[in-house]
Order: sequence, then C-alpha cells, then structure tokens
Amino acid sequence: MKLKIAILAGDGIGPEVTEATQKVLRDAKVEIDWEVHHAGLEVVKLTGNPLPPSVVEAVRKNRIALKGPVTTPIGKGFRSVNVTLRQTLDLYANVRPIRSLPNVELRFDVDMVIVRENTEGLYAGLELMIMPGVAQSIKLTTEVASTNIAEFAFRYAAQNGRKRVTIVHKANIMKISDGLALDCARRVGEKHKEIELREMIVDAAAMTMVRDPNRLGVLVTENLYGDILSDLGAGLVGGLGIVPGANIGDSCAVFEAVHGSAPDIAGKGFANPTALIQSAVMMLRHLGENVAAQNIETALTDVYREGNVRTRDLAGTASTDDFAAAISRKLAS
Ligand code: ATP
Repeated sequence: MKLKIAILAGDGIGPEVTEATQKVLRDAKVEIDWEVHHAGLEVVKLTGNPLPPSVVEAVRKNRIALKGPVTTPIGKGFRSVNVTLRQTLDLYANVRPIRSLPNVELRFDVDMVIVRENTEGLYAGLELMIMPGVAQSIKLTTEVASTNIAEFAFRYAAQNGRKRVTIVHKANIMKISDGLALDCARRVGEKHKEIELREMIVDAAAMTMVRDPNRLGVLVTENLYGDILSDLGAGLVGGLGIVPGANIGDSCAVFEAVHGSAPDIAGKGFANPTALIQSAVMMLRHLGENVAAQNIETALTDVYREGNVRTRDLAGTASTDDFAAAISRKLAS
C-alpha cells in the first residue's frame, strides 16, 4: 500500500536535501504519495505568515510529515516555525539519535540518543518586558509534560534495547521547575525497574558527552538543554550534516534533520543530505517499513565505509546529488 506523507521542503538548503532524500526513498522502492506543502521565507512573501494554518492542518490530517529546515524571519511578529509546529500538534518528544558513521574521524564511537521535551520550558514563548531595561522569560514546567517525556524515554529505551535512561536537569539551582521534572522522571522510573535511571546535572552531562557519551544511554531532558546538547552531539559525530531527528506526538510525527536552513551554503548544491536521509529512515521505521529502512541505512553506511563519496562538510568534494546517487547505486547493487 502506498504511504501518504506530507512533505515540506523548507528553505535555504531544504529543497536540495529534500530532493536528494526523495530520490533515495524512490530508489529504495518505497511507494509514497507525497502531499507537497510550503512553509518558510517564500511563503511569508506570499501570505505574510511563514507557517499558514492550512499547512499545520495538512500535517495533522496526514499524521506523518518529512520536513526540510525552515528559516523563521528575524523580527517581531514571527514565532519560530519549528516551535509552532511542535507545540500546535503536540509533538512532545524530540528524538535525536547521535551515532557515529564509519570513516568519519572521531575520538570515539558514539551511540546515544537525546530525547528532548518539545513543547514547554523556555520555548513556551512567555516573555515580557517588565519595565524598560528588565526582561523576563518564563520557564514553564508541567507535571503532565515532564511525565509524558519521561514515559516516552523509558518506552523508547525498552523498544530499542537500551539499558539506561539519564535524566538531565539543573534542579540544584532551579529547585522548583527542574525539581518537578526530576521528580516526574523518578516516579516514571519506579515503574520501569528493568531500565536503570541515572540523574545528571546539565553541566556535568555536557562534559560527559565529550568524554564518554555512551554512558548516558537515552538522555532525556527539557527543551533548552536538549537543544544545546543535541548540537553538541552533532559536533561529536561529524557535524550538523549528519544527525537526524523526529518530533513525535500521540497522533502525528514530523521527521526533520537537526540542522537549520544553512543560508551560507544554500543553493550551491553541496549540502550534506545525510541528516534528512537518516530522518527518513526513522520515519520508515515509525511506519513499520523496516526492510526499506534497513536497506537505506545499510547503503548509507556502506557509502561512508568506502569513503570515496563524501560532501564538503566532511572534507570531501561530492555534491548533494552525487551523494544521493552513491546511495542509490548501493541500493541497486
Ligand atoms: P537554526 O538556528 O535554524 O537551527 P543555525 O543557525 O543553528 O540554524 P544551521 O543552519 O544549522 O545553523 O547551520 C550551521 C552551520 O552548519 C552552517 O555553517 C552550515 O553551513 C552548516 N550546516 C548545517 N547543515 C548542513 C548540511 N546539511 N550540510 C553541510 N553543512 C551544514
């Protein structure tokens, strides 16, 4: 049966990496009926809104979307497209597997997962100017969201053969907000005795990630810490061109790379499509298309292992299309 998936190519390098990913999916013989939608800079020019409500509704209706990066125009009046999409559709869990690829020079092999709470914390959008010269951002932490994200992390660990969940917090300073999130994780941990729960303060977690990241297993944390630590994780495995992501809710899921729209290299044809291709692999697994997912993952890993075709962010010379074509050749062989 054909899969029905909404696709948002985004802007900047979005259309380039999206086209490469669609080609790989086609060559892996996955039958997809794409419903094409637009968000980002071009859409602002046409509608005055980078994320028209009709696009959000289309994702809600399709339940699954593959999304390229979208730039949020800087300035008053625009909320981040990514944050709005995640909050409106209640895509509360942001999953970012941080995994090394063969032949990408690293200090050690990394295999950990970051599960980031996606709907609240300092991203709740509750900011105000209390008086001239004094601004306030409210870090919203609820028992419901903190429990949901901890439950998700334990479920993910159980389903993916991981033995440990690490809750990352700063409850020694933010005793009430991070303290609440920590208590929720402990309560959830009580119900999952088969998986070890570790607790770590966020600064210690940053250090552990660069010294011994695999010790963390599935790292679960609030929104801002998760955002920062996932770029750190990307740096550990070769940069933003590599790391995939998924935003998962109870009824919808949007799959997107960790990287942004990379305006510095947009339109030049040499962005690395690995992150979005790996996000598409996560999407296929989410949909139960495990054979196609495994075939693409194996082909991609083989291209890295052989090391002849790689993009400029990894000191190669291949274009985005060359890289996708190399994966397609592997799929055909
Ligand atoms: P955002 O705020 O939207 O997350 P950002 O400002 O953090 O975006 P990115 O757009 O992700 O930044 O880009 C950061 C750097 O990483 C840029 O130098 C960019 O060229 C590089 N980069 C990001 N994605 C890729 C990619 N897929 N291939 C190659 N280089 C990339």
